[in-house]
Amino acid sequence: MNPTSVTQEHVTKTYREAEHALQRYWGYDRFRDGQDQVIKAVFSKKPVVVLFPTGGGKSLCYQIPALVLEGLTLVISPLVALMEDQVDQLQSRGIRSTFINSTLSSREVEQRLVNARNGMYKLLYCAPERLKTTLFQNEAGRLNISLIAVDEAHCISEWGHDFRPSYRTIYEDISPYVPHATWMALTATATPEVRDDIIAVLKLRDPEIVSKGFARPNLKWWVYTKENRSVALQRMLKQESGSGLIYAGTRKACNELADTIHNLTGKKTASYHAGLDAAARSRVQEAWISGDIPIVVATNAFGMGIDKSDCRFVIHYDAPSSLEAYYQEAGRAGRDGKPASVLLFFRPQFMELMERQISDNYPGHQDLIRIYNGLCDCFQLAVGSEMDKEEPLSLESMQSRTGLSPQVIRAGLQIFKRQEVIEMTYASHHELGVRFLTGVDLLRNLDRDRSLSERKRSFILSLFRIFGPESLDERVYVSGRFVAERTGFKLNRVISGLEILRSEQWLNFHMQGGEPMVRLTSSRETKPVIDSVSVDAYRRLLIKKLGYMKQYAETHDCRSRFLSNYFGETDATACGICDNCRKAHKTSPGAAVDSGKTRKILFSLKKQGAQHIHQLNAQTGLPTNELLAQLKWMMREGIIKQVKKADGAYYELK
Ligand code: ADP
Ligand code: MG
Repeated sequence: MNPTSVTQEHVTKTYREAEHALQRYWGYDRFRDGQDQVIKAVFSKKPVVVLFPTGGGKSLCYQIPALVLEGLTLVISPLVALMEDQVDQLQSRGIRSTFINSTLSSREVEQRLVNARNGMYKLLYCAPERLKTTLFQNEAGRLNISLIAVDEAHCISEWGHDFRPSYRTIYEDISPYVPHATWMALTATATPEVRDDIIAVLKLRDPEIVSKGFARPNLKWWVYTKENRSVALQRMLKQESGSGLIYAGTRKACNELADTIHNLTGKKTASYHAGLDAAARSRVQEAWISGDIPIVVATNAFGMGIDKSDCRFVIHYDAPSSLEAYYQEAGRAGRDGKPASVLLFFRPQFMELMERQISDNYPGHQDLIRIYNGLCDCFQLAVGSEMDKEEPLSLESMQSRTGLSPQVIRAGLQIFKRQEVIEMTYASHHELGVRFLTGVDLLRNLDRDRSLSERKRSFILSLFRIFGPESLDERVYVSGRFVAERTGFKLNRVISGLEILRSEQWLNFHMQGGEPMVRLTSSRETKPVIDSVSVDAYRRLLIKKLGYMKQYAETHDCRSRFLSNYFGETDATACGICDNCRKAHKTSPGAAVDSGKTRKILFSLKKQGAQHIHQLNAQTGLPTNELLAQLKWMMREGIIKQVKKADGAYYELK
């Protein structure tokens, strides 16, 4: 038997199963460009590096093979919130999956690992630092892992914006136990330095690299530098329909803008920031997703983990502090592939202010020691003792303990996170912490308690199942969305139910979201070791990132191309629809080019491939002379090219 043909046959067969799973579990017709290549590589047991922009569909690259392959897929993911969100979504599709991270007690982790060993899950999500734990090390060899997906793999690289030291040891931590597993690394940061780092650190041998354009051809990138912001905003909002997001820097700005916009447009508008309580934040989030409130003015606390495909515009009232953040926030527009606008208001004096803030608020050595001690005191941690899991950290209490400003405290926490002194996550959606006050006997006998209504009884019982017996001893946190799904109630109903049960002394509960969840990674020391070289390097990195943001705002080049270059794509072409591209046509004589028409042509070429002018004519409905002017300009800009064939000239994307 010829082994290559068997492999090929096998790949074809499993790929068909993969397509089937895509339809069955997701209801999608076909894989996107690139996804097919990744999945085939996995089935050929080739290591693969997936470089797709945010929203490009990276998750399915490992979720689908996980369903088709024998055994378990281990997903390494850095963010508790994202991990829980994905597991929620998988479970709701009927896919057996779970996670282990620092929000769980060791008892719960152990239980989940035992379940995994018994083949209960197809996917196991895991935070990188969990791999080192004895618990995990003991089980790893027995988990029957066939695929390891390292999500957000840029965390491996110090060049990346989210460096996580524990990402660097993933290979050493796990490879001894899984000699036959296939490796996959995924990220939206494709800079060459990061990519090379990923390959080297994960020791990927001859990997297949699948990179998909970082340009988002349906996004119209726009920057306003000079105009009066409120006038421009007003004009802009008049043109836009559908849902949108506006990012503003402060709570006050969010509230004021939301009022102004509501008065201007008459549309329902809400503001969203860390000052709202968790229930209010969750209401705004749900209402935006469902379309009840089309416009939300938010601080950057909004958006992580939210999957709304038809957001038509994202406006930044002030620039964020890095292009990574900007691309991610702006990239929430137009995920459905239809045209959407992203607009940045840029004020140079604001950038200077931000730079000064970074320097002024950057903690010194003594500040860091105070923050460290303040943290330990907040968690009532004695020298030598350790934290079992993440707990919410009150910034107010940190302020009163350290006497430092919130900005300095936040910067200090970021530094500790980068040095892995702490783990810190922000719950993007709402976590419910429940502790039962009744005895276990009462709960066990609830079934027979006729003094309660049937509904109430079953609500209490399902809560108890969700939060587990540990919630009799301590407060257990579970994501609100998960509780809602499991109980079958809307989150708001769950919360009012919990409020009633609290008033009747069944339980205590606490909602959180927006506050950081923090855990010290090792036991409290008398004096923390602070690596001042890296502390200083981090400050310089922050200022450098700010500099790139400024360059983006001030460039005369195509914005989309600028971003693609920044993210490591060297052969990006001009988009034809951003403000700079449009200015470029206006100033080039004879070419009265129109972005609407350019877009039509681009969409048609993208959909149909190379086309003859007559085909384009029919496809776009543009008259030949106009079409020719557009095509000429698009060729000059390097967006398309002309290919001569036997039956004439064809136009295609470059
Ligand atoms: P990333 O991790 O690359 O940022 P996600 O995996 O979160 O992106 O996917 C973004 C969105 O695209 C999700 O809503 C996902 O369901 C959708 N998506 C992914 N693949 C496909 C596909 N083949 N067909 C339709 N939608 C898809
Ligand atoms: Mg992702």
